[in-house]
Amino acid sequence: AEEQLRQAQKIEAVGQLTGGLAHDFNNLLTAVTGGLELLAMRIAKGQHDQLDRYISMAQNGAHRAAALTQRLLAFSRRQTLAPKPTDVDRLIAGMEDIIVRTIGPAIEVTFASAPGLWPILVDAPQLESALLNLCINARDAMPEGGKLTIETANKTLDARAAAAQDLPAGDYVSLCVTDTGTGMTPEVMERVFDPFFTTKPIGEGTGLGLSMIYGFVRQSGGQVRIYSEVGTGTTMRLYLPRLPGEHELADPHETSASRHRA
Ligand code: ADP
Repeated sequence: AEEQLRQAQKIEAVGQLTGGLAHDFNNLLTAVTGGLELLAMRIAKGQHDQLDRYISMAQNGAHRAAALTQRLLAFSRRQTLAPKPTDVDRLIAGMEDIIVRTIGPAIEVTFASAPGLWPILVDAPQLESALLNLCINARDAMPEGGKLTIETANKTLDARAAAAQDLPAGDYVSLCVTDTGTGMTPEVMERVFDPFFTTKPIGEGTGLGLSMIYGFVRQSGGQVRIYSEVGTGTTMRLYLPRLPGEHELADPHETSASRHRA
């Protein structure tokens, strides 16, 4: 039954991705063909001003489509997940340097965790890439600097709390990435999981980060939640299901019991 649920979630995530993809790819093609048609029309009429405007319109669309295809190929290659028992705190500890380097000196980073974080069953490289992506989004939301907090905790969701998150009741590890950045309007928040939705300039955002994270987390039996307020900042919270029963982690002696670093 659990396998079936995972399958269903996978299909849901893939369906959302391909549905949104067809739509957005179509929009890009419209920009290309629209630009070329306008160009042809002006040339036919002998109006040779503003030609570069239509050329760049077609070029922008084509460049974006090419960038999206690249990202998509990378995405489909990584679709096969290899979940393994994982200590999220240890995974984060191994990423502290790269995170700090990626977000730069203008942003103060805090890593926080309570003792005895439960192990989870997850594809660790995918979780690493998801976390880095969330940190990059947080950085982009704080162009003038600010604070980034990465926090883990054990969370037990009773029937009611779980239903509110669209999850089965049970034990979860929560991973929160909080920034003091621009925040999101409700309109943006509603669309952030759509593939190719981005508010960033052409060439800077692909709009695939959060849709990929959503697909991956849902496939892993978890959930993604956003808390955001314009002018205050954003918290992205991942719920990831606890690994049931007693399990040996790759190296139980290295399991971090307690860390709080600022
Ligand atoms: P991209 O980063 O390429 O735009 P994402 O799917 O990662 O694609 O994000 C989609 C959009 O969600 C962003 O363009 C931005 O508008 C919004 N967003 C994501 N994370 C944050 C954040 N931490 N603060 C404010 N806005 C965010």
